Amino acid sequence: MNLGVDVGGTFVKLGIIDDDGKVVNRQKISTLTSEGSDAIIQSIIESIELLLINSGLNISDIKGIGIGFPGTTDQGNGMVVCAPNIFWENVEVVSRIKTHFGLPVHIGQDSRAAAWAEYLFGAGKGFDYIAGITLGTGLGCGMVFKGSIYNGGFNTAGEFGHQIVEVDGNRCNCGGKGCLEVYAGGPALLKSGLQIPDIEVLVGKLINEITVLDIFLLAKQGNPGALACTEKYVKYLGIGLVNLINLNSLELISISGGISNAPDELLFNPLVKFIKERAYPLASEKVKVVKSTLGDDAPLIGASMLYLSNK
Ligand SMILES: [Zn+2]
Repeated sequence: MNLGVDVGGTFVKLGIIDDDGKVVNRQKISTLTSEGSDAIIQSIIESIELLLINSGLNISDIKGIGIGFPGTTDQGNGMVVCAPNIFWENVEVVSRIKTHFGLPVHIGQDSRAAAWAEYLFGAGKGFDYIAGITLGTGLGCGMVFKGSIYNGGFNTAGEFGHQIVEVDGNRCNCGGKGCLEVYAGGPALLKSGLQIPDIEVLVGKLINEITVLDIFLLAKQGNPGALACTEKYVKYLGIGLVNLINLNSLELISISGGISNAPDELLFNPLVKFIKERAYPLASEKVKVVKSTLGDDAPLIGASMLYLSNK
């Protein structure tokens, strides 16, 4: 058995995962972001112990522990370099958990763990060059090349959301300007959707309850303002994906995340059409763009299997 942990800004998910990538038991706790990194690490340790007890397992039944973080990790030194969502900077994590349990501990970025899971057990099974993209508030991206997670020289590979798509564009949270995330992140689509006249009446919700999926559903009903918003979103996302495919000669891209649940005719189908029309010809003919088969469990499953990646 393997143990996976997926640390998010709101929740920490933990799971016992068998060698076939199946989650056999799971647990979810709140992320104690305001209490600092020590408290979060301690709560992870306690939750692992509880999960083992609840699963009727001993620590000796577990091969290793893998943890995915929402940020940049330094696998070699066992540190989380920077994870803004949980306010971590240069936090040593591997040694502390390893010392406690006496097991191998591996860490990685959550979106890379998700891509790793898709490669091993999901949509990417059987392909050598894949990317997993998560559509949400931000744009997560992990790449797996020839049986290894690709981390890059500075552990910053796959910063898909921070490719520049507008040279003099709007400010991004990363400090840059005109990043893809500014145009194809959930907040960008929501912001433009909320400017549709009478949006509250059209959706039947208060302004602060309206979600990105509401904008998609309104577009599905043929509302021209909503259609303009979703089309713009798809165009920018398409530019980002075409760049990713052209640079890396990817065989498959797996798409996950909350926004991937939007109606196919408004998101997935036009996105694939854009890619087929605009990517470099040799790649555009062959690249497969598919929905994730593991969904929200991908980061958890992938984290538990981080020990299988060569780096
Ligand atoms: Zn950026």
